[in-house]
Amino acid sequence: MSWKTLSRILIGLAIPCVGVEGHPNDSGHKSREIVFPDIDGYHTMSTDLHIHTAFSDGSVWPDIRVKEGLRDQLDAIAITDHLEYQPHQDDIPHPDRNRAYEVAAAEVEEEELIVINGSEITRSMPPGHANAVFLDDANPLLKDDVREVFQEAESQGAFIFWNHPSWLNQADDGIPPFSDMHRDLIEDGLLHGIEVVNSKRYSKKALRIALDHDLTIMGTSDVHGLIDWDYDVHEGGHRPVTLVFAKDHSKEALKKALFDGRTVVWKDDLLVGRKEYLVPLIEESLQVTGASYIEDSSVLEFEIQNTTGHRFILQNASEYSLHHHAAVLTLEPYSKITLSLKTLDRLDRVQMPFTVANAVIAPETHARITLESSID
Ligand SMILES: [Zn+2]
Ligand SMILES: [Zn+2]
Repeated sequence: MSWKTLSRILIGLAIPCVGVEGHPNDSGHKSREIVFPDIDGYHTMSTDLHIHTAFSDGSVWPDIRVKEGLRDQLDAIAITDHLEYQPHQDDIPHPDRNRAYEVAAAEVEEEELIVINGSEITRSMPPGHANAVFLDDANPLLKDDVREVFQEAESQGAFIFWNHPSWLNQADDGIPPFSDMHRDLIEDGLLHGIEVVNSKRYSKKALRIALDHDLTIMGTSDVHGLIDWDYDVHEGGHRPVTLVFAKDHSKEALKKALFDGRTVVWKDDLLVGRKEYLVPLIEESLQVTGASYIEDSSVLEFEIQNTTGHRFILQNASEYSLHHHAAVLTLEPYSKITLSLKTLDRLDRVQMPFTVANAVIAPETHARITLESSID
């Protein structure tokens, strides 16, 4: 059990049925926390690694970003103000490009929320915008030659990803303009990830680029205003996040996992990730909480609990037809569903394969999972 799961249980015990904003669960309790279960061998860390403040073109002071991150129970945020674009500089002079990070990091203990020093390299296409995160010192990145900026970030051990590659201002057909410069940056080890999701946008071409070039799949809010207003958190919405599968709950393990490509992105009702991480994440998220036959019949009641805030759209991929549902069904956040399977023979054990219509492992390719249980 992760410390976040434990803290959620403890909070639930201490103040049951308090009307926190977000999704309703079984008890009528609502929560906005972005918490997914751990998978075999890894801690699941929820992160938002693209965030702006008033130190570039954002509307809020860095402490608000920390408070938003704590409300969402994120494990890590990166402050990534633009290096080259500072529209508030007449009012807020800030020659030190590390300052927004320092103000945010001073707000919180690392055990509560990891705050990462980052910068958004803000250039025309190519290469467009890119985030360098886990910087030691952002100031040496102020260079004219864009390749030298990437090299400086890499020399500090930064993880670097291509931002909003389908942004219309830099891609007027909405298709990421993959260029020779991007190819060179990847081949030279200067570009490690790509935003498949940026704020409200999902790009399947970006997912294709990630899979073809072994880039880490990223999803971020790129928030400039307030998370609550941009994502209608009071109505159950949530910011896009990158779920990162780390060996332990530390900054170093998080960074290693990003370099190793161990991520899944969660945006609205969509999960996107490599099969080897997305399938186990879903199988951990959906727990079989009951499997027994109705009296002497061969109709099996199969109860599934959704332990997450994701709304799953499942398609029955088994040989069994269902007694009460059509083949496609929705499993609401933090809720249970009981399926009645016509197994014809009475079984000791059941395996139920599903296609998850709103979980993507490649363009137009959906995750396929199997839920398994012995039968009472
Ligand atoms: Zn940008
Ligand atoms: Zn940005």
